[in-house]
Amino acid sequence: MLPRQRSKQPKKMHFNSTVTAISTPPGKGGVALIRTSGPDAVAIVSRCFFPRSGKDFSATPSRTVVYGDIERDGERIDDGTAVIFRAPHSYTGEDTVEITCHGGVLVTRAVLETLLLAGASPAPAGEFTRRAFLSGKLTLTDAEAIGTLLDAKNYAQIRLCASDARDRLSRRLSDVHDRLLTVVSEIYAKIDFPDEDLAELSPRELTERLTAIAADLDNLLSTYKTGHAISEGIKTVIVGRPNVGKSSLYNLLCGDDYAIVTELEGTTRDVLERTATAGRVTLSLADTAGLRDTDDPVERIGVERARAHMQSAELILAVFDGSQPLTDEDAALIAELKQTDIPTVILLNKSDLHLLPEVRAAFDAFTHVLSLSAKTKTADALTALIEKLFIDGDISVNDTAILTSARQFAALTHARAALSDSLRAFASGLPADVASSDLEIALGALSELDGRAVSEEIVSGIFSKFCVGK
Ligand code: GDP
Repeated sequence: MLPRQRSKQPKKMHFNSTVTAISTPPGKGGVALIRTSGPDAVAIVSRCFFPRSGKDFSATPSRTVVYGDIERDGERIDDGTAVIFRAPHSYTGEDTVEITCHGGVLVTRAVLETLLLAGASPAPAGEFTRRAFLSGKLTLTDAEAIGTLLDAKNYAQIRLCASDARDRLSRRLSDVHDRLLTVVSEIYAKIDFPDEDLAELSPRELTERLTAIAADLDNLLSTYKTGHAISEGIKTVIVGRPNVGKSSLYNLLCGDDYAIVTELEGTTRDVLERTATAGRVTLSLADTAGLRDTDDPVERIGVERARAHMQSAELILAVFDGSQPLTDEDAALIAELKQTDIPTVILLNKSDLHLLPEVRAAFDAFTHVLSLSAKTKTADALTALIEKLFIDGDISVNDTAILTSARQFAALTHARAALSDSLRAFASGLPADVASSDLEIALGALSELDGRAVSEEIVSGIFSKFCVGK
């Protein structure tokens, strides 16, 4: 019924090649898992895996664990188990065999080589998940969530990417897509088949339905702030003059002694970056060189880098020594911070010593000022404030569909803008076919979001971040 919908990426694609890779991390372990997927997976594994029962491996029922030997040129390399997952009931949607062997580095590699010699090709990074997506087993948002799950640094990320949360987002996107598709189909049906006895959508009903869809999109878009904070992380920079306690705070938030802390000024010269967690918020945290005028060329580069990080940050943690009178360097930083629109938290450190009232008074113009003792290792007030700034308290990660990536947010923003254009076009009385061209753009953006219609470039970008074997 809808003649003009784009579809750059055919669904349920089938692959000719059979690929294999070690799916467990490299190194010594109890066991290793080697996955082989594709039309010849069972035949290829049957050339090198021989059940101890003496039976033909290729006749093994699906999802049955078989114990046997892995052999190359008649020589036994290892013993282990193998399971066949026949299409479409496998992760990739195609025939897949998983061999579990001993987890030594060389033995695992030898089993992999045996499978390659038997006819499989090496699987590039993310290939199994890419196949799952292309064969319609996963949506693109699912695949993205799996990528985040593999890199998860905290439980909030795990909860956001768990299968329930993935399903919620997929269902919600699918629902909104289908409702828009129904509206567009009804409009085109009336245009393309004017003689058929089809019920006409009244302008009022049309506006109501599109407005409801727009409200749904707004609702989803509003979840991205929280999703971004948990899933992608807030780009956070710690700044301050030398010796105020920046590296101590960095170590406190990272949970270990990563940055060197000394009483000597200028110890941190370059920018140190790590992922840290503040409550449910993931921080891409940077510790920087102390801001001061210096003749040391290396330190000067460090100071320039600190300033560059500050300008591109989403959150500035500005540290001052609350136990000492403010210096000219402090004053220069305060003047700079007054000019910025980036959310800033002023931290008056060394509160275990006496905090000077005049230092506190110098920050009256700032909204977020906390006293802190990085040395006594408590940052609860800071954590609570960061959560308040970046997590929407009305959103429950356990039962809300939440956008988790900039790509999803951009596609949905595009869809929302096109929907507004079309609502305006309908309101100004433009003919239905003209006004609905914007609806098609909205539909295209939604299709791109969950991968119904998506360019190869986007797909490759997402799967290139996966590891080999996933
Ligand atoms: P940075 O140069 O700003 O990174 O500061 P550091 O983290 O290296 O700390 C400089 C000095 O201040 C070190 O001797 C720290 O042990 C000390 N220091 C840091 N935080 C505190 C604090 O909360 N209380 C006290 N008393 N000393 C601190």
